[in-house]
Amino acid sequence: MSLRKIAVLGSTGSIGRQTLDECARHPERFRVTALTAHSNAGLLFEQIRQFRPQIACLTGGKPVTVPPEDISFCRFYAADQLERVAEDCDADDLMVAVVGVAGLRATLAGRKAGKRILLANKETLVAGGSLVMNACREENGQPTLIPVDSEHSAIWQCLQAAGPNRVSKIYLTASGGPFRTWAKAEIDAADCAQALKHPTWSMGSKITVDSASMFNKALEIIEAKWLFDVAPEQIQVLVHPQSVVHSMIGFEDGAVLAQLGVPDMRVPILYAMTYPERLNSGVPQPDFAALAQLTFEAQDPQRFPALKLAYEALGMGGAACAVLNAANEVAAQAFLADRIRMGKVYRVVSETLARLGAPDAGSLEAVLEADRQARAVAKEILEQVEA
Ligand code: NAD
Ligand code: MG
Repeated sequence: MSLRKIAVLGSTGSIGRQTLDECARHPERFRVTALTAHSNAGLLFEQIRQFRPQIACLTGGKPVTVPPEDISFCRFYAADQLERVAEDCDADDLMVAVVGVAGLRATLAGRKAGKRILLANKETLVAGGSLVMNACREENGQPTLIPVDSEHSAIWQCLQAAGPNRVSKIYLTASGGPFRTWAKAEIDAADCAQALKHPTWSMGSKITVDSASMFNKALEIIEAKWLFDVAPEQIQVLVHPQSVVHSMIGFEDGAVLAQLGVPDMRVPILYAMTYPERLNSGVPQPDFAALAQLTFEAQDPQRFPALKLAYEALGMGGAACAVLNAANEVAAQAFLADRIRMGKVYRVVSETLARLGAPDAGSLEAVLEADRQARAVAKEILEQVEA
C-alpha cells in the first residue's frame, strides 16, 4: 500500500483522536490533509501543528476569527464548512468521525468528490441509508465505503472469508452497557452519571448514553441492514458482556465465523485505513487464559425496548429510521443535560416515531426535512414528559 492522504472529520473526538494516533504510528503510510472539530479549538490547533494539514475547520462553538499565527500554513475555516472541507480537501480517504446526522451531507459531498469513506458515524447511515449506499457502490471491484464501527468492522472482516457463500445470519454482539443486570424500574430511573460508566468501551458521551439505553444497538441493527444488505430478521442481537467477540456471521451449513479482539477501537479504525492489509495498531491480542470465559445472553426486550423500535422503523421504511435517529439525538442530548431520566429516552423516541411514521426519503432534502420534523416533534414530547 502506498502513502494515503486522509481527512479526519471530528478529529478532536474519541474516534478522531485514535485515528490520528494511528496516523502518527505509521507516518510512512498516512498523510493527514484535513481536520475538523466542532469544539475544543485548543486541541484542534495542537493537532494542526502536529499533523500539518492543508485545510482545517472549527465547525461549531465560539468562532475563532483570528487563528494562531503558527498555523498560517493551513487554510482555516472558522465557520461551519464541514461539507466544503469534505469536498475540497485533497484526500484519498475521509474518516467520518463526527457525531450525529451532521455527517450525512459531508459524507455524500466527500463521496461525490471521489473520496473513499471510512464511516464511524453510524447516524449518517441510519438516517440516509439508501442515499449513502447508492453513492457508495463499488468502483473497479473496490469498496468506496468501509465500516469503522467495531461490530460492522467485525462482520466485514468475517465476510472476507465468506467467498461466494450466502450469509444467512448476522449476530451483532452488545456489551449490555452499565445497566445490563439492572431491574426495569432502576433502568428507567437512571441518570446521566450512571449511564456514563460504560463497563468495557471508552467512547464519546452520546454513544455512551446510547449504549446504556440500547439505542446504540438499535442504530447498529439499521446500520448492518444497509451495509450488508440483509433482511432485518436475519440480524440477531446477542448480549456478550466481555466485548471480545465483536460480531459473527452464520451460513446455511451451520458454520459461524467470528472476529475477536480486546475492546479497542484502534483495531477497526486502522483496518478501515489499511484494508485489506493489516498493520500494527498498538493493540495486543486478548489474553484468553486470563479471560477464562466468554458468555452470551439473549437480549431482554422488556428492560431494553429500543431494539424492537429499530425493527419497527425498518419495517415502516421511508424515512422512519431518520425519524428514530433524530428523536434519539434530541432525547440523548436532554438526558446528557440531566433534563430527563433513562425511561423517558425511550418514550420520546417511540412517541415521535408513532406520530410521524415514515415520511418520504427519496432525496437528501426529504431525509433532512424528516430529520427536522422529528426534532421538532421530539422537543414537544420532551417538554410534555419533563413536566
Ligand atoms: P465524540 O463526541 O468523542 O467526538 C465527536 C467529534 O465530532 C468531535 O471532534 C466533535 O467536535 C465533532 N462534532 C460534534 N458535533 C458535531 C457537529 N454537529 N458537526 C460537526 N462535528 C461535530 O464522538 P465519538 O465517540 O468519537 O463518536 C463519533 C462517531 O463514531 C459517532 O457517530 C459514534 O456513534 C461513532 N462510533 C464511535 C465509537 C467510539 O468508540 N467512540 C465506536 C463506534 C462508533
Ligand atoms: Mg459499535
